Amino acid sequence: MDSDGFATHSRDLQLVSFRETVRRYVIEADSWRLARSGELATALARPRVHFIYLHHVFDDEIEGFRRTLAEIQKTHHFVTYSQAVELVYAGNVDKPTVCVSFDDGLLSTLQASRVMDELGIKGCFFVCPAIVGEKKRAVVKRFAETRLQYPAMDVLDWSQCEDMLRRGHEIGSHTYSHPNMGDVSVEQAIDELQYSKEHLVRRLGGVSHFAWPSGRWANFGAHAAKAVFDLGYRSVASAVRGCHMPRATPVLPRQACLRRDHVMGSWPLHHNMYFLARSVRRAGPHDYEWPRSWMPTIMSERAASPTAPTGDGLSMAGAAH
Ligand SMILES: [Zn+2]
Repeated sequence: MDSDGFATHSRDLQLVSFRETVRRYVIEADSWRLARSGELATALARPRVHFIYLHHVFDDEIEGFRRTLAEIQKTHHFVTYSQAVELVYAGNVDKPTVCVSFDDGLLSTLQASRVMDELGIKGCFFVCPAIVGEKKRAVVKRFAETRLQYPAMDVLDWSQCEDMLRRGHEIGSHTYSHPNMGDVSVEQAIDELQYSKEHLVRRLGGVSHFAWPSGRWANFGAHAAKAVFDLGYRSVASAVRGCHMPRATPVLPRQACLRRDHVMGSWPLHHNMYFLARSVRRAGPHDYEWPRSWMPTIMSERAASPTAPTGDGLSMAGAAH
């Protein structure tokens, strides 16, 4: 931590608990078992679209991050986020395909983007316009504590976002101010999506992709999912682990919810590869789907409106999966 209490090193965020230690042993044992039996390589060779995401890439994580991407690159084809999204919708993916994204708009991802440039990989950075370019550290700290639930970290500013766009990366929306979208009213959820889009259009010229904060089903809802597409976003990403296997028939954007696997530069390389292989082994052809109970709302014709009846939309968030 620095003198303001901002995290500057991966250890500033690491959990040291009995549960975490046990979890690591289980992953360690299972990853070696899969590697020795050849099942890891078999899983990773399967055609699919696999989204990986991170939050931060501190100085001490840069080499681990580079090693992870380089290892994946040996057997996978990296595409841009927009290309990956279209492949999921089309369904006809014929090789192991990966793309990288980052949540929360943290400054350390700028150096990650440069490492990616060296490897010829382009990513998508999901930002919250309410905090982009905030220079007052007390404000960033309060935002981190109340909205991100982790120690404060420096954030990207708009010129750094523009710089990444110029280098071929993409900037996506992560809501306006990172609320728990499962807790807010339908009106607030729509405002978060709309303000974020307006800011990103005004500051950067446009935005296509959205990822919701915290990424679990309980942190989102059917009305919010519908609003994202009604507002013209092209895709919605969760942080539910998984990947997208080939399909015979295409789907509409609003029929699909993207799965993403979390990796970290500070985790051992074989743990990161293990998480990818585990998702492949568990994946089914319907893993692009929303919770079934959300579908009537998401597919309904009526345009989302702040004056629309609220119903029980967001309270349904935890109902399925
Ligand atoms: Zn987030």
